[in-house]
Amino acid sequence: MTADLESLPGEIAGRARQLLVELCALSSPSGDADGVGAVAARLAAELLRRGLACEIEQERGADGALHPVLLARGPAAAGRHLLLVGHMDTVLPAIPPRLDRDRLEATGAFDMKGGLAMLLGALDLMAARGDHVPDGFLLVAVPDEESSGLISEQVVRRWSERARAVLVLEPGGARGDSETLVAGRRGLTEWQLQITGRASHSGLAYWAGRSALAAAADWCLRAQRMSVPGPGRTVNVGRLVAGTADFVDRLAESHGLLGSSGQRNVIADRAVADGELRYLAAAEGPATIAELTELARRVAAEHEVEATLTTGGTVPPVDPHGPGEALVRRAVELAAARGFRLEVETDRGGISFPNYLADPASVAVVDGLGPVGNGMHTRDEWLDLRSLDRRIVLLADLLATL
Ligand SMILES: [Zn+2]
Repeated sequence: MTADLESLPGEIAGRARQLLVELCALSSPSGDADGVGAVAARLAAELLRRGLACEIEQERGADGALHPVLLARGPAAAGRHLLLVGHMDTVLPAIPPRLDRDRLEATGAFDMKGGLAMLLGALDLMAARGDHVPDGFLLVAVPDEESSGLISEQVVRRWSERARAVLVLEPGGARGDSETLVAGRRGLTEWQLQITGRASHSGLAYWAGRSALAAAADWCLRAQRMSVPGPGRTVNVGRLVAGTADFVDRLAESHGLLGSSGQRNVIADRAVADGELRYLAAAEGPATIAELTELARRVAAEHEVEATLTTGGTVPPVDPHGPGEALVRRAVELAAARGFRLEVETDRGGISFPNYLADPASVAVVDGLGPVGNGMHTRDEWLDLRSLDRRIVLLADLLATL
């Protein structure tokens, strides 16, 4: 997996490493607008030196305060722009970086100041080769990806609307002796099941009751069994509350009943379940909701209760076989041409930048372009600097094709 060292001059690699150490020394935990602002200012100065036009805008975050967003633009494009996305915040405040040969132990080195240093190195490499920054190049670096993500979500949605492709500079993964790019991320749809049965005394009139609890439990079990291992969809029941209508609807006041003898003799006439489903292909969302609705109809008939399924928030998936597939393949081929073996993660968990795109089904996105390491969000975080070298070359090669 050794990158062709001829392809990255030592001077450029050394400068990228030095910049990374400096970026990591600037403490920028989410919420620290001054610290993140210092990273933004440092990046802006470096990007300006590389010919990009920079602005630092202030956006209101979930805490009501203003936080910096860095925009860096290359030559204007007649058509759609090429969007690069990263974040400047870290989970923890910084401690002094420690360099141990090809390993940099530093806060945010892996997630994801390494990706920002990679971009600076790639711009240097392109300049050294006489390659131009692509028309419509736009870097957006956000301040709150590790906390609420409110600004991240809004800004990425806004700038992705007219993007021709999106490159996410978040780190790839390390897998044995190879590294990964990320092609797919699951989307999710929230749902709520409400069931109304008929209350009755379990001693005097057991058979007259219609248990909403039993019906809900039956539905939940069958719903979870619709989950498919591997790349398939998953259905998760996050909560199930059942009992008398009085108990369920006034849970804040009635929870003291739990563990007591109260109301154990009542057939439960009310149940509410909250959950979500996750899926990789956009069509699986509505299709699964239709199946869950049909399941609610069947369970209602079998248990002689009323059941209603409603949906809540939804986050679109990034389909690994969607519009980004060709771009991911190109990146893998470019890496291979340098002797750098990349695998493709088609199913990375968690909601992240690609899910925030205005429409992930209509724009090519490749995620996980950043260098790899380990210990994300911990005091043991470190970055593999040889991975930084390899990925500087890869990003420069990829940008030259865009
Ligand atoms: Zn990150």
